[in-house]
Amino acid sequence: MPFNNRYLTLGESFYVKTPPSPVAAPGLIIFNENLAETLGLSVAELTATECAAIFSGNVIAEGAEPLAMAYAGHQFGHFNQQLGDGRAILLGEIDGADGGSFAIQLKGSGRTFYSRSGDGRAALGPVLREYLISEAMAKFGVPTTRALAAVTTGEDVARERLLPGGIITRIATSFVRVGTFEYFLAKGDMEAIRELADFVIERNYPQSAGADNPYLAFLKAAVERQAVLIAQWMQLGFIHGVMNTDNMSIAGETIDYGPCAFMDGYDHEQVFSSIDRDGRYAYSNQPSIGLWNLTRLAEALLPLLAGDADAATEIAQGVLKNYVESYQDHWLSGMRKKCGLLTPPDESEQEADKKLIEELLDTMAGNNADFTLTFLYLSRMSARSSEQDGDCRNLFDDPAQFDDWVLKWRKRLSEEVQSDGERQVKMQAVNPVYIPRNHQIEAAIRAAEDRDDFSVFHALHEVLKNPYVQQEGKDSYMQPPEPDEVVMQTFCGT
Ligand code: AMP
Ligand code: MG
Repeated sequence: MPFNNRYLTLGESFYVKTPPSPVAAPGLIIFNENLAETLGLSVAELTATECAAIFSGNVIAEGAEPLAMAYAGHQFGHFNQQLGDGRAILLGEIDGADGGSFAIQLKGSGRTFYSRSGDGRAALGPVLREYLISEAMAKFGVPTTRALAAVTTGEDVARERLLPGGIITRIATSFVRVGTFEYFLAKGDMEAIRELADFVIERNYPQSAGADNPYLAFLKAAVERQAVLIAQWMQLGFIHGVMNTDNMSIAGETIDYGPCAFMDGYDHEQVFSSIDRDGRYAYSNQPSIGLWNLTRLAEALLPLLAGDADAATEIAQGVLKNYVESYQDHWLSGMRKKCGLLTPPDESEQEADKKLIEELLDTMAGNNADFTLTFLYLSRMSARSSEQDGDCRNLFDDPAQFDDWVLKWRKRLSEEVQSDGERQVKMQAVNPVYIPRNHQIEAAIRAAEDRDDFSVFHALHEVLKNPYVQQEGKDSYMQPPEPDEVVMQTFCGT
């Protein structure tokens, strides 16, 4: 692995050097050969035993300089100055085959300076969960950390009960978080904030480097990436679950898959996470929480935006205002595509499209309609005849309410210039057939944890490699849970 460890050069206030703690008996569950290849890693030539040794931390790859990163963060709105990688270790950064660079991290690899009372370990369940969901997100085209490998450790971890341990190796274009900036702001170390910003600009926002004020350009670009990202989450029914500022990547990638989940039946207020008692991170709150978190980032960057404090605040407010507009634009254009409303309308028609989409969502919410299947089946319906309406209307408790909406939708489709076939193809390119449904993830975890059987995990992972194409014999993966399969709550597993 061609390591080029730049984070290390930032200095000792940014991290604590820490090797992973060896585990008893590492076993390779899965290695992402495709990803390794696109990254230009030659690890694909290793045996399973060698892979297990490297991706458990038992063997340190040549050139790796393991460290735990320092960061702070607002957790459920409360500031915590001392977080940091408590169970993750950065192996290093690597120059990618495409000219970019990426960072590689083990999660579950043992205690670090930042572990506080934790054991630094991960249970197998959350490792499988992160692997499945982060790789599915990549297939959906959503910016995300990637999963390179997962291993069992041959050791138990103590949670509410003893559970088998696991380690996931993940890849990101950066593991710097909004909380990393907050860490130095709380220490009053503006020089470190400048250094960190320079590092992030160099690694992740090189196009901002040449701007009149590179820090302002960086803030604008980071804000824009979050607007794009959260709009994509909303369009897939994805709920992150713990949008603390330490779980918001500076690079605009989805990071720290904990109690995250895709919803089945549409509900604006859906919450899965067991620790989110007030619904701070409910589905429909995600866009505004994004703004809240970005405001924390802007605060940390204020002195870099302008010499005068009032001027800096005004500049930051302008950038944050752009987030609101940009998010709404991305949300609407994505939702219009999901509904097949592709002909660019003028501004007043945009408003009409928005109203039509909101009416659909309200009808779905009032009728327990499955989020993913509603859009999938809609994308198979005709603009003129109601012959293929059956699958979609049956998803609604009161199909007549769906029929009312469809009348308006067809009227709107009559303004489309493209053919019906073209529209369907375009809709099907953005409306997945398969998502990693909670109950299926749960089944994969149960089989692995209880019976040491990874076939359920592998089968689900295979289906999710091609989520936009219906696969023969895989219809059960499309279906929402039976009443006895419904997963009401998801857990961090920390
Ligand atoms: P998370 O909720 O996973 O984003 O983690 C929040 C903080 O708790 C981070 O600083 C983690 O490193 C730390 N943490 C979570 N689980 C553990 C664990 N098992 N051992 C040590 N630290 C942990
Ligand atoms: Mg985290």
